[in-house]
Amino acid sequence: MVERDITRLGSEGRGPVGRIDGRDVRRTNVAAGRGVAAVVESTLGPKGLDKMLVGADGHVVVTNDGAKVLENLPLDHPAARVLVETARRQDDRVNDGTTTAVVLAGELLSNAGDLVERGVPPAAVAAGYHRAATRASDALDEYAVDIDPDDAARLEDVARTVVTGKWDESAAECLARRAVETAAAVGEGRTLDFERITRQTAPGGSVFDSTVCGGLLVDLELSSTDVASREATLPARFPDATVVLVDGQLTVETLSGASEVVVETPEELREFEAYERERYDDIRARIEGVGADAVFCQKSIDDPVRDALARAGILAVERTRADEFRTLARVTGASPVAAVEELTPADAGRAELVERRSAGDREFVAVEGESASRHVSVLLRGGTPRVLDELAGIFDDCLGVLRTAVEEGGVLPGGGAAEVRLSRELSAFAPSVRGTEQLAVEAFSDALERVPWLLAESAGLDPIDVLAELHARHDDGEVFAGLDLAAGEPANTLSRGVVEPVPVKRRSVLGAAEAATTLVRVDDAVAVASPGEDDEPGHDHDHGRGGVVESTGGYPWTLGH
Ligand code: ADP
Ligand code: MG
Repeated sequence: MVERDITRLGSEGRGPVGRIDGRDVRRTNVAAGRGVAAVVESTLGPKGLDKMLVGADGHVVVTNDGAKVLENLPLDHPAARVLVETARRQDDRVNDGTTTAVVLAGELLSNAGDLVERGVPPAAVAAGYHRAATRASDALDEYAVDIDPDDAARLEDVARTVVTGKWDESAAECLARRAVETAAAVGEGRTLDFERITRQTAPGGSVFDSTVCGGLLVDLELSSTDVASREATLPARFPDATVVLVDGQLTVETLSGASEVVVETPEELREFEAYERERYDDIRARIEGVGADAVFCQKSIDDPVRDALARAGILAVERTRADEFRTLARVTGASPVAAVEELTPADAGRAELVERRSAGDREFVAVEGESASRHVSVLLRGGTPRVLDELAGIFDDCLGVLRTAVEEGGVLPGGGAAEVRLSRELSAFAPSVRGTEQLAVEAFSDALERVPWLLAESAGLDPIDVLAELHARHDDGEVFAGLDLAAGEPANTLSRGVVEPVPVKRRSVLGAAEAATTLVRVDDAVAVASPGEDDEPGHDHDHGRGGVVESTGGYPWTLGH
């Protein structure tokens, strides 16, 4: 989240509505109605797409994460609050589909406003929306295509669809690949065990320098002292290493059992020093005795111990985090001992490679294990800590969506294909619904078309033509026809590799419906929805479509071209 140099040019028409860091902001995505003092706008930037929020107070934030934008709304209007909550839940539960949820919610609210103005009772609108959402959710299951959890190419499609538009294209592609590699390393049939993933970040370098390795990458910055010794130079690599885990400390106090030593005479001091040397040597000898190459200690290691170990060619890492310690035990098969006196060769574990690695200003120790004890570590690289934060967020979203895809199995064509399909399902379903609820089902069907509409606009295509073409194709049985943004044309998006897991779309649709029905029931929200200075229903106004939230076109999924 950064504050930027923003110039607001206006919010009407098809031209730029503002300027961010000298770049034109193209169009408004979601503009909340009067009283909802927030606008989310999109801009095309070198990193793909930024979404911009402008509060009524002039507060501006820019990010490429839709959920983050809304989180930062400094507002207390009910509609704004509900939209924020919708986006947040969407992100928490399924890691993706936030823009769809918010756009759809906005459109549903707008349509609800129209219906209420035409005299449809808010309760009938809410009931109709609820029926429509339930029907749409069922339709998704019938429409879904099964995914083979071992189909890496398919999983890459899923990951790429998540990151599209969030970062520059090749970097996004790279992140998507790393996410698939990571997921593949910890996948077993239809489960993905996230406990077996460690994600580290190191600022500096580029996202293309990011790596995935089998085993654990221990961040040494978390430990208070360095592994290097003043007295000896350790090799950086220990192939076929023997690893010892000490679940305690390597200090003299532990060995003597005394918590504090009081020395009163020079004689006593010499005696104590001799005793210390002996104990340090004893620790070194016991660790060396089991053939160790590396020792990880949960607590502290006295400097002289580390030096003695380094002279013996043994890497010593102190203050290893409890979770890393457990992972090390699993990866290497070592049994942690409470004190070195207990150490036997049987307690030692093995690693294919123990290696000290540096990335930027960070130091790591990689412990690459046998494949049987699968654990995987990702090291994400990228410019600044802030950039890295965003990249890590995108990477995590990618992993989350991959898990959903693998565990649930069903995927849908993206690029608006699923929305066109659902829209058609609902318009076929509407006539069977009695009373004014039928109008709400139709309104839901219309609202769904907003997604392909906005995608078409963002590709610079005429949305009316695109929608007509998509409907014609669906009529002809091309049920996976959507808009391929990369090619800028309608296509079978499933075969073009634009795919999303069913639960993501389901959550967008249900979340949007929940948001809209909640707000439709709030009299206040509907009153505020009416455009114009007074809140009289039916008051015609040139800038309003008459909804709580007004969508004025544009779409933050714009791809660079
Ligand atoms: P966000 O990722 O900002 O939360 P969504 O996931 O709700 O937004 O929406 C992204 C939309 O972009 C989805 O409809 C998805 O199918 C679409 N999309 C992603 N990549 C492509 C592509 N290459 N071609 C067409 N549509 C795409
Ligand atoms: Mg997405």
